[in-house]
Amino acid sequence: MKLILLGAPGAGKGTQAKKIVAEFGIPQISTGDILRKAVADGTPLGTEAKKYMEAGKLVPDEVVIGLMKDRLQEDDCKDGFILDGFPRTVEQAEALGEITDIDAVISIEVDMDSLVERITGRRSCPKCGAVYHISFNPPKEDGICDACGSTLIQREDDREETVRKRLDTYTRQTSPLIEYYAGKSLLKTVEGNGSIDDIYASVRKILLGL
Ligand code: ADP
Ligand code: AMP
Repeated sequence: MKLILLGAPGAGKGTQAKKIVAEFGIPQISTGDILRKAVADGTPLGTEAKKYMEAGKLVPDEVVIGLMKDRLQEDDCKDGFILDGFPRTVEQAEALGEITDIDAVISIEVDMDSLVERITGRRSCPKCGAVYHISFNPPKEDGICDACGSTLIQREDDREETVRKRLDTYTRQTSPLIEYYAGKSLLKTVEGNGSIDDIYASVRKILLGL
């Protein structure tokens, strides 16, 4: 199963990807996670990416395409994968089409006000990558990761000033992919305003029908 999860920042791509990983055993490949690790490790890629990420802009296509070409050749991708946060431009989608075929693109659609509320309330585990929400999906103990006990953080780019810029970037550069994949008859749309479990039920139905 080769899947793309499409949706604005905060739509729930990472949350749904983790549920697909748990049930179907294919890896989640998040360009945001890869880039954040590169920033934390201080690699040349991280140094280049950081300025765009902090500004709520996209990292240049050639950089992201290069890293995904390498990532998709790794062994764990041979039986499928879930792309979370890639592609984000038509250029990236075209480059992906030259690397591999895709079975389905699941677009999670959430209204703007909910997106802002979801992103500003998101708390992330810097150690194991688990994601929570202060109201909608809180950890058992305030500020502490259920899975590994680390102190949760708010991502720098999840503060409200940057969130608006990221949503604007999504509208201008990424939302055209909805039409792009509809034109290739790959698009499946999921109403993303319900509970995490209700949305997963819709996602699961799509996956079992592939
Ligand atoms: P994305 O990967 O698309 O940026 P996330 O999966 O990280 O989005 O979700 C963004 C925030 O919204 C997180 O704090 C997550 O816990 C929360 N969230 C995800 N899905 C839902 C949902 N269906 N209802 C309410 N909150 C949600
Ligand atoms: P995310 O974790 O998906 O919200 O991504 C965080 C940030 O990483 C984005 O705001 C971009 O700056 C950068 N990023 C992630 N994926 C991509 C991509 N496919 N193309 C360009 N930039 C990306």
